[in-house]
Amino acid sequence: MTPTTTTGRSIEVRGVVQGVGFRPHVARLAAAHGIAGEVGNDELSVFIEAEGTTDALDAFLGALVEEAPPLASVLDVRVTDRAPSGAAGFRIVPSRHRIGARTLVPPDVAVCDDCLAELRDPGDRRHRHPFITCTNCGPRFTIITDLPYDRPATTMRDFPLCAACAREYADPGDRRHHAQPVSCHACGPRLWWEQVTDADACTDTDTGTGTVVLGDDDVLTRAQAMLAAGRIVAVKGIGGFHLACDATSAAAVELLRARKHRPDKPLAVMARDLDEARRVVELSPAAEAALCQPSRPIVLLPGRTDGPLAGAVAGDLDEVGVMLPYAPLHHLLFAPVPGRPGTGAPPLLVMTSGNLADEPLAFTNDDARARLSRLADGFLMHDREIAVPCEDSVVSVVDGEEVPVRRSRGYTPLPVALPAELGAGPTVLAVGAEVKNTFCLVREDLAFCSAHIGDMGSLESRAAFGRSVDQLVRLRDAEPELVVADLHPGYATRRWAEDHAAGIGRPLLTVQHHHAHLASLLVDRERVGTPVLGLAYDGTGYGCDGQVWGGELLAMGTDLATFERAGHLAPLVLPGGDAAVRNPFRTALALLAGADVAPDWSPAGVPAAEVALVRSQVTTGTACIATTSVGRLFDGVAALLGGRQRVGYEAQAAVELEVLARGARGVVPLAMPVVDGLIDWRPTVRGIVAALGGGEDPAAVARGFHEALARASAELVVVEAARRDIGVVGLTGGVFANRELVAALRHRLADAGLEVLTHRRVPCNDAGLALGQAAIGRAIASRGEGVV
Ligand code: ZN
Ligand code: ZN
Ligand code: FE
Repeated sequence: MTPTTTTGRSIEVRGVVQGVGFRPHVARLAAAHGIAGEVGNDELSVFIEAEGTTDALDAFLGALVEEAPPLASVLDVRVTDRAPSGAAGFRIVPSRHRIGARTLVPPDVAVCDDCLAELRDPGDRRHRHPFITCTNCGPRFTIITDLPYDRPATTMRDFPLCAACAREYADPGDRRHHAQPVSCHACGPRLWWEQVTDADACTDTDTGTGTVVLGDDDVLTRAQAMLAAGRIVAVKGIGGFHLACDATSAAAVELLRARKHRPDKPLAVMARDLDEARRVVELSPAAEAALCQPSRPIVLLPGRTDGPLAGAVAGDLDEVGVMLPYAPLHHLLFAPVPGRPGTGAPPLLVMTSGNLADEPLAFTNDDARARLSRLADGFLMHDREIAVPCEDSVVSVVDGEEVPVRRSRGYTPLPVALPAELGAGPTVLAVGAEVKNTFCLVREDLAFCSAHIGDMGSLESRAAFGRSVDQLVRLRDAEPELVVADLHPGYATRRWAEDHAAGIGRPLLTVQHHHAHLASLLVDRERVGTPVLGLAYDGTGYGCDGQVWGGELLAMGTDLATFERAGHLAPLVLPGGDAAVRNPFRTALALLAGADVAPDWSPAGVPAAEVALVRSQVTTGTACIATTSVGRLFDGVAALLGGRQRVGYEAQAAVELEVLARGARGVVPLAMPVVDGLIDWRPTVRGIVAALGGGEDPAAVARGFHEALARASAELVVVEAARRDIGVVGLTGGVFANRELVAALRHRLADAGLEVLTHRRVPCNDAGLALGQAAIGRAIASRGEGVV
């Protein structure tokens, strides 16, 4: 076929492609590439009939997704060749309707450059409008209460459009055509300030408790002055409240930590712009791209030791979580107020979730007043309601690739498409695990993963979980026909699922934790049906034998519904179970006893009586829980190396061991043999004791431990891969957030000729679990055996 021959293609683009300017985008591209035909849409897709030369069609197809409008999110593109019909010109045709189909809800995205330019233009009628938005930007998911997505079905229903806004809204040539959240100074929501504690140091008027300040400029000036004075301000944002303070003030950061009861967990920083971000973290091109994308996640980046951040922001970690402003209000908060010299918030702010410790995010004004008044010195409030809470997302950048850590604002509620073999079946609700919890709702071939909900330990979290389930079920019009939960009988989500399944008269299925991790990875990487070996390393998962698993090699054939345990870490004991999770020195003592070495080791700063008690516990086996958890092995080794003997949050010791290894100048070789499918850590522990006794640098020992674990894991995998003739290995579970371990393991597996899969779309930790549970639910349901 010569390039000048005309041919035809039918193209279907599925995803968030309605109300985001996708059809005009297609028409523009068609004109640019000399394509004839037409474009139209329905609830779930844009369909295109295109005719042109093959070269032109290829270029058109490439640009279709590559240059898509910012709020568009493409799930898949299906192309079929057909004979040309001799079409001339290109036109947009009327929408058609699919029976029973529901439009996808777009996620919330950052304010766009066009709106920002207007925000800063004194001549624009939306100059400094805190709620400026257009078709290409702004809140969506967090303001939508129902479908179809029209203004009455959003929290903007309370703000009738003024005549000027209504004109823009109705004009197909306007950037605000059919932008549901559009408003202006005349018709939009309002800001105000509520003083909680005395503000005498910050301002010369109206300083007392309970004072309310009105008027945008006065409100912003007060908030800025409070922040500059080292106070804590609760800022209502897109998906909930943040607690903000000056990130360069040690006193302010300590105050925030003390009030929030969060002694250790790192705090996220919002930098005014890229230059400010560059003062506190190392910025690669990939890091800049991650920071600037419309979803504006928190990006974990290497911290600069010479930066101005208060030490307590990142704690003992070598990374800082940084994000850029994403709401117009954030931009206004940083900027000086016109005509008022010296105003503007400090350019680096801690911006952490508005909650106490592990409680859910506060997102309504009343809830914020009730729960945050003891944490904040004042509230930067507004009256645009948040329909559903949505925390900031978190990503890291590994070898130039973005890796999800928490998938929430900017991504939720975009679905993940299931492969054809799982694409049909019952509507499934999978409830996830226990910490970092999310749930997943599958309808037809789309899996909707919820925003981050948090730790299910509190009543508030469980209530928030129930509300989020109701909201997603309503938005998707998808009553669950099958409920899936973790096998763990003690999980709050499991009990919730049992009650819920009974309440709606639908079956409940339980799925083993690490099985779900591996299934999640296969859906994430579109490899369902590929025989695979999966290393599932994490903190805790209930095993099929009732033991605590967490260092597993699983083998899976073409059927997602079944797996075999092909190997694991040799068991270690946790003296006191959960007490050992909070006190890694307990695990260290058990490791030493198990390895029959250093019976006199005593952890620094732990009372002798407590040590003696744990020793006797280990000897007698009283309240000792056996586990194959790699996460717990990390804890114990970290304690042996002089790290924390007690931790403030799960995995803290393990994360700090990774940091220690990353900074090592040398490496101490350590043995970790694999015997009959078991990774034996006892020689490793003996090697660690000997190395420390010989005066070796703990950092070099930490590196040696990472290397030894990578080597042993690879050995275990390679033997099984040969035996089973499997060429693909997946790495999943929270331990694989450890970049040093992943890097060491990846090159060994690749050298052995194996293809290595890691997570790209959902987190490797328990926040990604529900997707795997849901997929297994579908796989089991599709066998037609019935589900009990
Ligand atoms: Zn915009
Ligand atoms: Zn208006
Ligand atoms: Fe897990």
